[in-house]
Amino acid sequence: MSHDSLSPFGALLSIDLDALCANWRSLQAKLATAACAAVVKADAYGLGATQVAPALYRAGCRHFFVAHLNEGIVLRPTLPDDAMLYVLHGAHPGAEGEFVRHGLVPVLNSMPQVEAWQALACRIDHVLPAILQVDTGMARLGLAPDEFARLAAASGQLKGIDLKYVMSHLVSAEDQESPVNRLQLEGFRAALAKMPGVRGSLANSSGIFLGDDYHFDLVRPGAALYGVAPVAAQANPMRPVVRLQGKVLQTRTIAAGTSVGYSHTWTASRSSRIATVAVGYADGYLRSLSNRGVACCDGISLPLIGNVSMDTIIVDISELPEGRIVEGGLLDLANPTIGVDAIAARAGTIGYEVLTSLGQRYARHYLGAVAG
Ligand SMILES: *Cc1c(COP(=O)(O)O)cnc(C)c1O
Repeated sequence: MSHDSLSPFGALLSIDLDALCANWRSLQAKLATAACAAVVKADAYGLGATQVAPALYRAGCRHFFVAHLNEGIVLRPTLPDDAMLYVLHGAHPGAEGEFVRHGLVPVLNSMPQVEAWQALACRIDHVLPAILQVDTGMARLGLAPDEFARLAAASGQLKGIDLKYVMSHLVSAEDQESPVNRLQLEGFRAALAKMPGVRGSLANSSGIFLGDDYHFDLVRPGAALYGVAPVAAQANPMRPVVRLQGKVLQTRTIAAGTSVGYSHTWTASRSSRIATVAVGYADGYLRSLSNRGVACCDGISLPLIGNVSMDTIIVDISELPEGRIVEGGLLDLANPTIGVDAIAARAGTIGYEVLTSLGQRYARHYLGAVAG
């Protein structure tokens, strides 16, 4: 991106679609027979679903998940007809017709949702596709195991529905030692056995790394596609996808004893050169990074000093050669060395939140040969 097109913005967010597609391919390559979907809810975890989903389609992905109906309505026109687009929250009462109109497939999470979908199928005299969710431990969405068993036992209950998959969602898949993983696997197998011939979908990003047992027929990674580490306490096998560069608004030299920012939470212990950068918590640069965040220039790590403000942060650039960073220069705030998981650890959160917080005020640049 040219300097001119960046000039109205405080920061540049670069999204590497090639890295994203390479991540999807590497996950697909781990699967013997299962298909690899892409979860693109929350605007593809903040990275732009209308860019991300078509790029993944061109890489070979044919199954996409969003959370809300509205996300599906926005995304559907960007994908060819042979792409399946599933809505995790299912159809709210009365919204079933919207799914048919827009070519969206609901994840049915409750008996009322199942019944309403069947009623619509009967009304329009058309078999309608759906995924059915069974809860195996999250206690969030999906039929309870006994409800599921009753539905499976009652013959004809799924009349009118073309059941694409039975799915469930893992609670602690990033922790490979968690005994909950096995319990959920067993619960899911027991449920699937009650509906012979129906395909299954259990694993999110981390679930893929729990091994073949967890793959079934369709896996549903989100975070790993975007570069978040799928396995806690292990080296991250995914390629980084985002780079955030903040623009320097001003530099100054302060004397030892000078305090900076709101509430003066940092005081210089020596004469320091500092830079004010045009990124703040309104841009999703989390306020919990106050006095904890880092910036980077030429491989040199630079501490964020003082509190994160709404529109700015302050960085100590004393370690850089004088004149290296001037007004209008860029400092890296996220890149392959300052990864989203590292930022999350400093902020006391998870990479998912760092990504989905990324603000709408950044100039965005999509890198990669797959642009279409
Ligand atoms: C968000 C979500 C996913 C993707 O999870 P990641 O951990 O980001 O891979 C998969 N399945 C369901 C039901 C989800 O809500």
